[in-house]
Amino acid sequence: MPEEQSHPEVREAVARLCADYPDEYWREKDRDKAYPGEFVQALTDAGYLSVLIPEHYQGAGMDLAAACAVLEEIQRSGANGAACHAQMYIMGTLLRHGSDAQKQKYLPDIASGALRLQAFGVTEPSSGTDTTRIKTRAHRDGDDYIVSGQKVFISRVEYSDLLLLLVRTTPRDEVVKPTQGMSVLLVDLREAVGDGLTVRPLETMLNHATTELFFDNLRVPAENLVGEEGKGFSYILDGMNAERILIAAECIGDARWFIDRASSYAREREVFGTPIGKNQGIQFPIARAHVQTEAAALMVDKACRMFDAGEACGSEANMSKLLAADASWAAADMCLQTHGGYGFTVEYDIERKFRETRLYQVAPISTNLILSNIATHVLGLPKSF
Ligand SMILES: Cc1cc2nc3c(=O)[nH]c(=O)nc-3n(C[C@H](O)[C@H](O)[C@H](O)COP(=O)(O)OP(=O)(O)OC[C@H]3O[C@@H](n4cnc5c(N)ncnc54)[C@H](O)[C@@H]3O)c2cc1C
Repeated sequence: MPEEQSHPEVREAVARLCADYPDEYWREKDRDKAYPGEFVQALTDAGYLSVLIPEHYQGAGMDLAAACAVLEEIQRSGANGAACHAQMYIMGTLLRHGSDAQKQKYLPDIASGALRLQAFGVTEPSSGTDTTRIKTRAHRDGDDYIVSGQKVFISRVEYSDLLLLLVRTTPRDEVVKPTQGMSVLLVDLREAVGDGLTVRPLETMLNHATTELFFDNLRVPAENLVGEEGKGFSYILDGMNAERILIAAECIGDARWFIDRASSYAREREVFGTPIGKNQGIQFPIARAHVQTEAAALMVDKACRMFDAGEACGSEANMSKLLAADASWAAADMCLQTHGGYGFTVEYDIERKFRETRLYQVAPISTNLILSNIATHVLGLPKSF
């Protein structure tokens, strides 16, 4: 491990914990499309999912660099932190915009793991990238909001107690800007499921516990509104920098895992009586993946330092997500190629990680949308939409 990496003690401890969950564990979970509950519990018990919750609310009160160290090491071990990474950052919306009463009520229990807040409902069938067109609607009825609509690709709902939900409280054509009129509600899934909320698992190419949600006049207490009605979009935007930087750190962990696996295989596998790694046709793609990953890691570190210093870092967060997702995807492709036919077999775990890391070209924000943001916000090019 290079010395300049932040939080070496956290990295070592996370790596030790992950060693108890070897490749076979993840392979089995992937085969059965099962939730890695034991692993998530171990991370929770060790306090790693509460690193960003202030000590005042019984969290570890550490910086984003520490959270990045945790997630990068998880991915680097071959595990998949997507099962629980959102427990780290969804609470940020509550922390920044919730009332004192909400923070006192929820944050200490989220920190201890007694409450799981790891589901985040934004995407809808007809509005993924274009969030302002969400149709899930909430209107006030006495002390409650009544929610109707549909969401898709909402992950970990079956393994969460709370859901942070973005809804329209004022129709799009009745607000000045399309980003106005949306609100954030904290839905208690323990009460909602079966009583206004139906959850339907959605099968995908990876083991991600993602679901479709159907809201049919679900009652949510008005006291569960986070912040002010109508300002939900800006609250969601506020959380995006942390999410993007954390996912970028996961991609760096994935990329390093692929590079390690490819290097060891290339040293050992003999073809024509010599290790394949002796051929520059095999060496150079591994070296290139390493160079690409280390360059991306520098941008992730920069974005993280800016975030921790309280500086505006929207562009850096976006650039780090794009560079790290590209690095992990390039490393995945290289690793599969280095393994020849064996890369396609389940027992080598390459194909599983290949599928897992591919997600980050699309979610939580797609590569195209990052490029569009950089083009228009950093380079001053005209907006295409
Ligand atoms: C496994 C998985 C888990 C997920 N988990 C969650 C979750 O927990 N919560 C949640 O809210 N969402 C979740 N998502 C949804 C994810 O954030 C969306 O899939 C993503 O935002 C893209 O939206 P979309 O799928 O509707 O694509 P679309 O918006 O339909 O876009 C399709 C393609 O067109 C491109 N595109 C669109 N507009 C433009 C443009 N103007 N210029 C150039 N290209 C454009 C996009 O980049 C994309 O590649 C998850 C998705 C997956 C696959």
